[in-house]
Amino acid sequence: MTILTAGIGDKYELVVGLEVHAQLSTLSKSFSSDSAAFGAGPNQHINPVSLGHPGTLPRLNKKAVEYAVKMGLACNCTINLRNTFARKNYFYADLPKGYQITQDQMPICLGGSVLVRLADGVTKNIAIHHIHMEEDAGKSMHDQHHADSLIDLNRAGVPLIEIVTEPDMRSSEEAGQFLSEIRKLVRYLDVCDGNMEEGSLRCDANISVRLKGQTKYGNRCEVKNLNSIRNVQRAIEHEFERQVNIIENGGHIDQNTLNFNADTGETSVLRSKEMANDYRYFPEPDLTPLALNQEYLDKILKDMPTLPNALYKKYTTELGLSDYDAGVITADKDFAHYFETLITYTDNYKAATNWLMGAVKSHLNDHNSSIKDLHLKPETLAGLIKMVDSGQINNSTASHKLFPALLKNEGKSAEQMAAELNLLISSDNNDVSRFIQDAIAKFPDKVKEYQKGKKGVLGLFMGEIMKSSKGKIDPQKTNQLLIKELEAK
Ligand code: ADP
Ligand code: MG
Repeated sequence: MTILTAGIGDKYELVVGLEVHAQLSTLSKSFSSDSAAFGAGPNQHINPVSLGHPGTLPRLNKKAVEYAVKMGLACNCTINLRNTFARKNYFYADLPKGYQITQDQMPICLGGSVLVRLADGVTKNIAIHHIHMEEDAGKSMHDQHHADSLIDLNRAGVPLIEIVTEPDMRSSEEAGQFLSEIRKLVRYLDVCDGNMEEGSLRCDANISVRLKGQTKYGNRCEVKNLNSIRNVQRAIEHEFERQVNIIENGGHIDQNTLNFNADTGETSVLRSKEMANDYRYFPEPDLTPLALNQEYLDKILKDMPTLPNALYKKYTTELGLSDYDAGVITADKDFAHYFETLITYTDNYKAATNWLMGAVKSHLNDHNSSIKDLHLKPETLAGLIKMVDSGQINNSTASHKLFPALLKNEGKSAEQMAAELNLLISSDNNDVSRFIQDAIAKFPDKVKEYQKGKKGVLGLFMGEIMKSSKGKIDPQKTNQLLIKELEAK
């Protein structure tokens, strides 16, 4: 039996702080004009600045600053108007300069918080310690060649922001939700593609445990370079159990840097705690401090899109959507954007939600595509909703016939398409009664059963009428007329 299944884990509290690196989607690098694009051949994007040749000088990328400020504002941080850069010195083959330019004493953002929603409906604010800007190092590949390590310097100098939280998270769920919120924000703001598999978003997790009720934090371990939300959560769960086990057996937690093995789900020691002054940070002599002003911040704030949390509030309060629906719609920026446009064309929010969460989502899933590529304009979908609402077409015909036809005929309005396919409900009572008469004539014995009190046969008549009319009837009205006819027999 493990410590946790024995219930001993219940005595302990988990404490987690995250350091999240987001690669900014600027066109060029932090301090040079090299392309910052991902996916080029090895060492294609390397000019003398990226290579750190003697005599080259860094020049700050304006866009990187703007993106960092955007993220800071979205996380409710205070933006530092006076920024300084620092050198973080270390030797590694993928760091030709021998140092990374980063921020130390005066980072771009201070404080702030991010709201996370947990499965039980509880919300919690996770405090941010600070966000700083830095440049990425190159990439070392140790598994591409049988004897040598290979170096690709395309990534050297690509701009990053590092979001450092306070040790505020108390479960792997909270950590996962925090990361998912950060990914949502960078995508809404268009400052990073948020792709964890490709390494645009990376996370180090600092994990410690302490006895419940204790105020002092325990010694922490830092698990490096986790490349999916799932793995962050697995590493946290593994560490909790490992650390509790050690303490319960009278041991002591050493403040180590750990590696996570996704195959085994276990952590191992990468290196023991470096001394605090290991990196010998000092002010970057080649860059002057960066001075921002309020006017600049106001301009960025003015151009910021509505953020997921504000949309969520609007959907659950003003539009009456369920927490679940609002959560799904706001999870993806493009999805939310589509919905926002859709509700400018229809005020049947419930129907708009149902169509989006049902037919549209399953179409996208089936085709493994994004809503950005959907061949159905929001105004066309709104037109379809209007036709159902006004009884021109019934729901089932709308989803089984009109919706698929509209997907294939981009540019046609719902009304045009319905008329072309002859799907409109006949408003003529004579037409409806012809279908009713035919059905009654076809099943005389069922008519008798109905008269003997077997009301269940109504379904059979309705099915027959639906079939023969090809769904072009108003089911409610027809049902009433059918009952009238049967009672009159
Ligand atoms: P350093 O600068 O040495 O990396 P910091 O004190 O700035 O250390 O913390 C880095 C990260 O570790 C932050 O996200 C912080 O919340 C987290 N952290 C600090 N102490 C603990 C702890 N005892 N348990 C869990 N996380 C911690
Ligand atoms: Mg750290």
